[in-house]
Amino acid sequence: LMGYVGFANLPNQVHRKSVRKGFQFTAMVVGESGLGKSTLINTLFNTTLYPPKESLDPSAERPKTVAIESIGADIEENGVRLHLTVVDTPGFGDFVNNDDSWKPIVENIESRFDSYLEQENRVNRLKIVDNRVHACLYFIQPTGHSLKQLDIEFMRRLHTKVNLIPVIAKADTMTDEEIASFKQRILSDIEHHQIHIFEAPTYENEDEETIAEAEEIRSQIPFAIVGSNNFVVTPDGRKVRGRAYPWGVVEVDNEEHCDFVKLRQMLVRTYMEELREHTNDVLYENWRTEKLVSMGV
Ligand code: GDP
Ligand code: MG
Repeated sequence: LMGYVGFANLPNQVHRKSVRKGFQFTAMVVGESGLGKSTLINTLFNTTLYPPKESLDPSAERPKTVAIESIGADIEENGVRLHLTVVDTPGFGDFVNNDDSWKPIVENIESRFDSYLEQENRVNRLKIVDNRVHACLYFIQPTGHSLKQLDIEFMRRLHTKVNLIPVIAKADTMTDEEIASFKQRILSDIEHHQIHIFEAPTYENEDEETIAEAEEIRSQIPFAIVGSNNFVVTPDGRKVRGRAYPWGVVEVDNEEHCDFVKLRQMLVRTYMEELREHTNDVLYENWRTEKLVSMGV
């Protein structure tokens, strides 16, 4: 069903805790329509959640995502159980007026907080299901220009509710140099607009290898992503997931070609626990406090 994900390699302590409890992890994809969100979900979890294109009428495009859909899968790796959910959202930007297109997404995130709060208030709190969104991949169109007003608006609505991880969509349409300068541009826009994106934590007493890995991941943000569910043959005869062009093949799983591997590593291996912790201790807690205050509790 599902390829090797890597969460069983979490640090020992986390690993042991999770073996007992199993994890629940939810990621969401957000961004303008047509940027490859649904494709990335497939690529990320290496499973066919959507009918592959080949099985459709060749003239038919992948159906557009029209509602917020959540797709779950139970996976087990080396005895560790993970219930993974990915929330796919309809793209926006198709309308003349996109003013409130962030609303259903923010409401979806908040209703998950609500459901958690409601469970916490029950007498029996042993079986709390955590459906909160732990990471939100925000897709940025590969324009090379500044962030769009709509992106800034979305990110500002989202950043207090969810761990935002910006990604450059369809990175195969840009050269390495363009990507490098676009990344800088995006980061300075994000800073200028005081948007808070997820930051990899740094620990003082970590071993060198862990620090190096964290630094490596951090330096790639915003990840430049290529998604594909098709296998193509490279000039040297390997069969890889990728996108074929007259000038060559862009390999999804090749770190020289794009940051897909880094993104997956961050989500399900290196920072899954941090993403969950930050969601619970900071984002949820702030939301809960605000909610209780507004209710006069
Ligand atoms: P969504 O609207 O964001 O969910 O986008 P889809 O996943 O439905 O993809 C829209 C179109 O972009 C499809 O034709 C995909 O095959 C194509 N696509 C998806 N990912 C990539 C990518 O990384 N690079 C390129 N060049 N095209 C992509
Ligand atoms: Mg879609």
